Amino acid sequence: MENQTKAIRIEQHGGVEVLKFVTVPLPAPQGNEVTIRHKAIGLNFIDIYFRTGLYPHPLPHGLGAEGAGVVEAVGAEVKHLKVGDRVAYGQSPLGAYAEARNVPAHQVVRIPASVSFEDAAAVMLKGLTVQYLFRQTYRLQGNETILFHAAAGGVGLIACQWAKALGVKLIGTASNPEKTALALANGAWKMIDYSRENVVERVLELTNGKKVPVVYDGVGKDTWLASLDCLQPRGLMVSFGNASGSVEGVNLGILSSKGSLFVTRPTLGTHVATHEKLKAAADELFGLVTKKKIKVRIGQRFALRDAGAAHEALAGRKTTGATILTVD
Ligand code: NDP
Repeated sequence: MENQTKAIRIEQHGGVEVLKFVTVPLPAPQGNEVTIRHKAIGLNFIDIYFRTGLYPHPLPHGLGAEGAGVVEAVGAEVKHLKVGDRVAYGQSPLGAYAEARNVPAHQVVRIPASVSFEDAAAVMLKGLTVQYLFRQTYRLQGNETILFHAAAGGVGLIACQWAKALGVKLIGTASNPEKTALALANGAWKMIDYSRENVVERVLELTNGKKVPVVYDGVGKDTWLASLDCLQPRGLMVSFGNASGSVEGVNLGILSSKGSLFVTRPTLGTHVATHEKLKAAADELFGLVTKKKIKVRIGQRFALRDAGAAHEALAGRKTTGATILTVD
């Protein structure tokens, strides 16, 4: 008889009520896949975009792209993994919200013995994102002052620590004093409470009128214009997310009028498209985690079956750091 597992599935897009905790088949892995029994699952804002349909995907489908656990079965073509390996992934077909699942092996890496399953599940997608944002999209050298929105969030707290490790002065934004304090404690140089303060004025003050060469913006619609106004001439706007809604209807002329700006809209998938690229980025990330330059901060945990409550907390700006879905 075919194996089964418990998983979250959606049959239609919508609010958290569309998340159903059900029993689904768990087939033997294909030749290039491994079966992973999860010990922890990472929650990410992108999961909300897939639930609501902002990012279209044919229904029905699972959710989640990040997890850590133990390899339970290995496809015939898989060379770099074996049964019993401790592994994690941060970019996968939808379906991480499950007790166990199959994942293409090239998307999976072994985790160092010193890194817990929870920390791995909390840091893979978010940490690999910071890796490419800071080391590939705009390769920070260590003498820059940068602006990073939502700095107390999952990606944000890793960014604060990575910037500090590089010697970069990170000006962060967050929506309340607790979040600004948390980001400062994690290595942000200065914080702006963008629910009360004017971001452009504060960036001008903090940089003595120079502004910044690069803005990392995962908030999207609400911060787009202010972000452009914080950039130096020929600066780079890295728009990497839509927590407040997507940026639409942009007239390219705005980039010339604000100083010959560059803009990019990157995604993690491009940067870890091959196992070699994934492995190189993950090695750098886990190197920093192992040296404790990046301490993984799990702000909250929810049981897998309570994924809806986790989505509400994340969408409602009630979380800090990473959020984990736990499995029994
Ligand atoms: P976070 O933990 O950062 O949560 C999102 C945060 O955005 C909130 O906590 C909140 O912080 C802020 N925010 C601002 N406006 C809103 C709003 N209207 N509704 C909800 N939140 C708002 O999430 P993640 O770490 O998972 O992701 C951060 C961003 O990075 C997301 O946009 C995500 O899509 C993007 N991302 C992009 C990737 C890529 O490769 N392109 C990969 C990974 C993440 P505050 O209360 O302080 O404002």
